[in-house]
Amino acid sequence: MFFKKKKIERMVSLKTDVVDSITSYCKIKHPNESILILKGKSKSGTILIEGLVIPPFSHTGPTFAGFPHSFLPFDMSYVGIVHSHPSGSAEPSLEDLHNFFGLVSIIVKFPYEKKDFFAWDGKGNSIKLEIV
Ligand SMILES: [Zn+2]
Repeated sequence: MFFKKKKIERMVSLKTDVVDSITSYCKIKHPNESILILKGKSKSGTILIEGLVIPPFSHTGPTFAGFPHSFLPFDMSYVGIVHSHPSGSAEPSLEDLHNFFGLVSIIVKFPYEKKDFFAWDGKGNSIKLEIV
């Protein structure tokens, strides 16, 4: 399942207060999945996440979390989504990749601590993640 590919140095930077907001939101929603829109900016390969937006009309359950993208206003600061995996898996599901939005998909696995944050691109490749 691993292909040789050109290495693109990419990174996701998450602000600590954003991480704290995500972990508390995930804990409130547990055992259901939670989903939030990531607000930030992308500059020379680094995606800086500075804020969160609760998506309109989101629907979540123990194994899914989604929202109709058509309801979103066009906003260049929406750089991706974060959602939780109460099952404890950090890997994006096929459905996650189909519903990929923006530049990055962050998955937070149970028990939603700082070490449980993982970033992925639209092809399911892992992106380096740092908390600043
Ligand atoms: Zn998922």
